[in-house]
Amino acid sequence: MRPIIGITGRKDTSARLVHSPMYSVGETYVHAVHQAGGAPVILPPMLAEADWTALLGRLEGLLLSGGEDLHPRQYGQPPEAWLGGVDETRDTSELGLIRAALEMRKPIFAICRGIQVLNVALGGTLYQDLAAQVPGALDHAFLMSRSLDQSIHPVTLEADSALVRILGGVTFAVNSAHHQSIQTPGAGLRVVGRAPDGVIEAVELADYPFCIGVQWHPEALVRSDPAMAALFAALVEAASS
Ligand code: MN
Repeated sequence: MRPIIGITGRKDTSARLVHSPMYSVGETYVHAVHQAGGAPVILPPMLAEADWTALLGRLEGLLLSGGEDLHPRQYGQPPEAWLGGVDETRDTSELGLIRAALEMRKPIFAICRGIQVLNVALGGTLYQDLAAQVPGALDHAFLMSRSLDQSIHPVTLEADSALVRILGGVTFAVNSAHHQSIQTPGAGLRVVGRAPDGVIEAVELADYPFCIGVQWHPEALVRSDPAMAALFAALVEAASS
């Protein structure tokens, strides 16, 4: 039987439809999970405490999708001028969901905003804007205005990481559509991948069945890069056992 993978959604105010705003997620996330053998369900970004364990009891895995900036109050910093758009309801919803998933030792795969929420859930902090706070940083936001199926910078992984075992190599070209990143890693998170400028692009949780975070967007690369499809297969495999 296909394992059920919950995918965190966002509040979408862009659609001019009768029911707008809508709760939605990019179809690439849904297809990547489905093609890897998982049964995807979209989780709305307004879950409260009573929902977290109830939902996770019915999910075999959790995929944290990309989206807005977290409000810096979640990691004890005042908002700076360069902070992007936030959705504090989503912050509360996802932080609670992640912490409950960690307690239940559910497989977790965190993408883009997801790696940032995972980090903050474990007590880590974020750069609110790489261009403003990290001298010499690459233009990681480059692809926000372009197609996500283009790779734009390399990532070098730690040779003994789970990611290397899954991806089958140490260096990969990845896409990049973020202006924030991990500043201080949260408790138990091991940094296993960096861009050439030192920006953290991948983390893993030690002593845990499956908890991987990446700052790039593998869901948009699965058609062109089998290694990226293997990431979703690894999530589904972990969710199946
Ligand atoms: Mn990047």
